[in-house]
Parts: sequence; structure tokens; C-alpha cells
Amino acid sequence: MRALCWAGADAVEVRRVPDPELRNAQDMIVRVRRSTTCGADLPLLGGRVPEASAGEVLGREFLGEVVEVGPEVRRHRVADRVVVGAAVACGSCWFCRQGLLACCDNGTSGVTAEPEWGQPSAGGFGRPARLGGFAGGHAEFVRVPYADVGAFAVPESVSDDRAVFAADAAPAGWYGAELGEVAPGDVVAVWGAGAVGQLTAGAAVARGADRVIVVDDRDDRLRMVARHAGVEALNHRYVDVLAELRERSGGRGPDVCVDASGTPAEPSRWPLTDTDGGTALREAVHACRKGGVVVVLDARPGVVDRFPLGALADKGLAVRAARRRGATAIPELLARMARDELVTEHLATHRMPLERGADGYALFRDRADGCVRVVFTP
Ligand SMILES: [Zn+2]
Repeated sequence: MRALCWAGADAVEVRRVPDPELRNAQDMIVRVRRSTTCGADLPLLGGRVPEASAGEVLGREFLGEVVEVGPEVRRHRVADRVVVGAAVACGSCWFCRQGLLACCDNGTSGVTAEPEWGQPSAGGFGRPARLGGFAGGHAEFVRVPYADVGAFAVPESVSDDRAVFAADAAPAGWYGAELGEVAPGDVVAVWGAGAVGQLTAGAAVARGADRVIVVDDRDDRLRMVARHAGVEALNHRYVDVLAELRERSGGRGPDVCVDASGTPAEPSRWPLTDTDGGTALREAVHACRKGGVVVVLDARPGVVDRFPLGALADKGLAVRAARRRGATAIPELLARMARDELVTEHLATHRMPLERGADGYALFRDRADGCVRVVFTP
């Protein structure tokens, strides 16, 4: 089959790779209809993930049609249209039973970054195999492990272009508002107007926030989130963000501050002992009202330096962090999509065939031409 593969630093290319096959009784094979770029791909594309091997298939978020099911798959049949959660989890370990699918003990395909992170996390599509990942969805076919746990039937009325965002971007964004315990009347600030930041802002509105303010440095993205989520936008190139947020929150600072700025477009700084930007996180800690909540939604693998511990403790802030939600939220998000309460297709600013994967990733990395997400069709 054809698949978009990592081909070394700053290079992706479509290659012919072997078709995936069922390996376990709970596996299924999906013929991909849509897949999307993800900010978490950028460190890999930058060539700074030493665990990656050329030829590995990219693509964390995808949607497709079931073409083959293993003997123990109960919830899916051939020809079902499904969206597949980006985290691979077993559904039965202690963490999965607590609903923490992204923390699964059994989801990885092998070696993980356990020495750096202390414990393994769930597996994921389109991550290097040596970090516990599985071949991704920028391909004609994908093997989906633990199919009953991570894949969900898409309601007939929801288009492919909308539902593909239920794989990870929407669950992550909604998780940001959930972790922040956004409540009616809150003032919420979100750093980052990429897909996850925009969806976090929308989730904060849906939870009844009084004001939601999104901070970014791109006018095109800010215009989009203001229009689609009905929120306020701040471009930190033109305004003093801290002063402006204080002003817009009655002088106290926002109740909830979410760092959804994601992975910097420039290559991530590996190895893990190096430090990384963290500008938005520092700003969030400084902006947040005393006793508020700071949420970090981040895909960076490494370490952030100059963390403002003093401000954190003095202000009595809570910090909660996640890389992804896990699949548990997907059915509810699909139901919201079916009711037109959650609209996502505008985030696919660019659509192209998989053959143009290299062009698509260049656009996405450089945030060129107003690019928020590129959606590929095999
Ligand atoms: Zn598990």
C-alpha cells in the first residue's frame, strides 16, 4: 500500500510499504478515508527524535472504513465507518478501568520513554515504534489494536471532514476545559489558536464560561476562532497580554488558563535533557488569578526550563496536564457533532491527496497560507 512515511530530518515522502495484517484477536484493519496533520508530529519532522526510523508511517488522527476484524472484536463489523482515538489503550488495566486511557499500562508496542517520564504511557498511532507507537493513519490501511476500546462508529449524518477531528483534536480540546473545571461565569484564557486551542475555547463556551479569550500571534487563526467559537482574540504581537487579561477579568486574572500552544514549529530540542521554550506556560502562570487552574495540553517530549515555581506556590495555583484525552470522550463528541453543536470541518484549512503529503506538512509546519490543519485523502 501507499503510506506517508518519515524520511529523515524535515522530510516526509509517500512510499510503498507492506499492507498491515491482523496480529491479535482484538485487532481490526481500517481502510483510511481521512487523516490529519498533528502538532505532535513536528518534533519528529524536525528530525530531533532519535528513536524514529526512516520509513515509519505517520498519522495520529484518522477515520476510515472497517475492512477486516479479529475474532474477539465485538463492537465493529466490516463496512462500518469509524473514527479511531489517537491513544492506543487496552481497556482493561488498572489505569484504563479508572477511565485514564491515555495512561494505559499495556498500550505500547514495545520500548517507551519510561526512563525519561518515570512510567510508560499509552501507545499511539504515527509515533516511532521505539517510543511504543504503531504505524499511523497517513496510509491506505491501518491496523487498529484493541479495536473495541479505541474505535467508534460515526453517526451517518456526520461528515468525514467533521468526524476526523473526533480522533484527537476535539477530545484534547474538550479535555482542556474539563481539566480546568471550567464553570458558568468563569473567565478562561487559552494560549494557542491551533485546532486544539480553538476546540478548547469552544468547549469553555459550551461549559458556560462568561468570557473566553484566545491568545496567539496569527491574525488568521484568531479571526477563525473568534468567528466560529464566538470568543475574544488577543494577538500578543500587538498587545500586553498580561495587562489585557487582567483588564478583561475584573482585575483578578482569568480563573482558568490553558496552554494549548502545543509544539513549537521550530524543531524540538532533543535529547530530553535539553530545555524548551515554555513561554506560554510561564505567561499562563503569571496571568492566572490566585487560586485558579493552569492546564497544560502539550505534545512536547522534553523539559521546560525557568518554570515559575514561586508564582505557582504563592498564588496557590493548581496545575493539570495532559498530552491526550484517550478515547472515552469520543462517543459524546460524535453525538454533539451529529447535533451540529460541535463543528470542526473549518479547521481543515487545506485538503489534499496523500501524494502531496510533503507539501501539506510544509504548509502545516510553517503555518503558511492560514494553515490550521491539513486533511489528507489516500
Ligand atoms: Zn490499559
